Amino acid sequence: MRSFPLFLKLEARPVLLAGNGDAAAAKLRLLAAAGAQVRVFAETPNAELRAAIHDLGVSWNASAVEAGDLQHVELVIGAYGDGEADAALSALAREAGRLVNIVDRPELSDFTMPAIVDRGEVVVAISTHGASPVLAQRVRAAIESVLPPSLGRLARFAQRFRSAIQARIEDNPSRRRFWDQVLSGPIGQAVLAGDERRAARDLIRAVNRREPKAEIGQVSLVGAGPGDPELLTLRAARALREADVIVYDRLVDPSVLDYARRDARRIYVGKSKGDHTLPQTEINALLIAEAKAGRHVVRLKGGDPFVFGRGGEELDALVAANVRVDVVPGITAATGCAAYAGFPLTHRDHAASVTFVSGQSKDGIADLDWEALANGRQTIAVYMGLSIAGEIAGKLIGAGLSAATSIAIIENGTRWDQRVIKGELSQAAELVRDHGIAAPALLVIGEVTRAARAGVRAGLQAAAE
Ligand code: SAH
Repeated sequence: MRSFPLFLKLEARPVLLAGNGDAAAAKLRLLAAAGAQVRVFAETPNAELRAAIHDLGVSWNASAVEAGDLQHVELVIGAYGDGEADAALSALAREAGRLVNIVDRPELSDFTMPAIVDRGEVVVAISTHGASPVLAQRVRAAIESVLPPSLGRLARFAQRFRSAIQARIEDNPSRRRFWDQVLSGPIGQAVLAGDERRAARDLIRAVNRREPKAEIGQVSLVGAGPGDPELLTLRAARALREADVIVYDRLVDPSVLDYARRDARRIYVGKSKGDHTLPQTEINALLIAEAKAGRHVVRLKGGDPFVFGRGGEELDALVAANVRVDVVPGITAATGCAAYAGFPLTHRDHAASVTFVSGQSKDGIADLDWEALANGRQTIAVYMGLSIAGEIAGKLIGAGLSAATSIAIIENGTRWDQRVIKGELSQAAELVRDHGIAAPALLVIGEVTRAARAGVRAGLQAAAE
C-alpha cells in the first residue's frame, strides 16, 4: 500500500488553501462542507473563487504564503496550477512539518484527495495514487451504480440500534451474523424503502426471538474457481465474507482470499503434489473441531470441490461427525481454462463429449480405460497429468488415437500469467519440457483445442487486437 487511507475530522480545524482559480474554489467548497476553518491565500482570485469566499464568509489574504502563515494550520492545500508556485508552497509546508496536498501533483503532496461516493454516513473513497484520475472516476461510477441512494439511511438505522443489540447479543460472531441478516434481508429492505417504523418493529422482534443458546457451527465446502477471483460465485463470495475460519490449500489464488473478512482466521493446509502439508484425516479433524467450537468454517478449494478435490471425503467425514455442511460449487479448471484460452470443450463437428480424468492415481499413472478414451470425437481434460504427460500420450496413441491429435497445455489457467501451449499429442512430453511448464497445468486433448489462442487470456487478446 503506497499511502494509508483514513478519514479526517476537519470540523473547526485550521486549513490553509492557496490558489486563484476554479480548482481553489472547488477545494474551498469541499473543505467548508467538512466544517474546516479555511484561510484562503489568493493574490488574484478569479470570479468563481471570489464568489466562494463571499458565499462561505471565509478569511482571505491577498498575499503570498510565508513561513509564519503555516504556524497555526494543520493542513496545507495548494491549487495554483503553476509549477513554480506549487513547488514553493509544497517545500514551505514540508519545512514547517505540515501535511500538504497540491492539486494534480502527487509528487509534491503528502496526501491526496480521493474520488468519493457519498451516501451520508456511508462514504466510499477511491484512490489510484494519482496514477489515473479518470480510472478513479470510472471506479466511482461503478460503485455509485451498486449502492442504493438511501444507504446512508441504513447506516443511521444500524447506528440507532447498535448499542442495544450489542447488549443483547454479546458474542461477536453471532452479533455480526445477526446484523448481516438484518441488513441484507427484509428489515434492511424496509429501511431502504423508507419504512423505518416497520423495520424497527421487526428488528426488535428478531432480537427477542433469538434464544440465548450457543451458536451452531457449520462448514461450507466452497469452490474457489481456477484463479481469477471474478470467477467466484456470488454464494462463494458471501460464504467468504461470513466465515470465521478459512481453511485453504495451494491451488487457491491469493487474490481470492481478499474476499474474506480481515479478521477471519486463515489456515493453510498445503497440498501441492508430494507436499501434503496436512494429511487428509487431519484436515477432516480440523474442520470438525472448528465447527464444533461454534465457528463458521469455509473449506476453500481450487476449482470445484467435487472435481478431483477430495470434497466427497470431507463431506462424508463431516456428515459422520454430525456437522452442518453445505457445498458451494465452483468453476472447475477444465471449463475455466477452455473459456480463457478461447476454445470450446464440445463442438458439433469435433467432440460429442468431454471427459475429465485424473492423470495420476495414488501410485503413478492412473488406470484408465484408454481404449474408450482413444475413441476420437471427444475431448479429454487431464487433471494432475503434467509430470506424466508423455506417458499419457503414449497410452492413448497405443490404444489407437492419432498421434497428430491436437492438444493444448494450459498453465496457470484464468490467472494473469496464464500460458497456453499448443501442439500434437505425440509432442506432449517435449512441449512440457521445452516450455518449462509448471503446476498447476491442465492438459486438454482433442480437435477442439485447435481453436485455442496461444499466449495470453483470450479476453485480453481480443481487446488488444
Ligand atoms: N478441484 C479442482 C481440481 C483439483 S486437482 C478443480 O475443479 O479444478 C488439481 C489439478 O487441477 C492440477 O493438477 C491441474 O491439472 C488442475 N488445475 C487446477 N487449477 C488450475 C489452473 N488454474 N490452471 C490449470 N490447471 C489447473
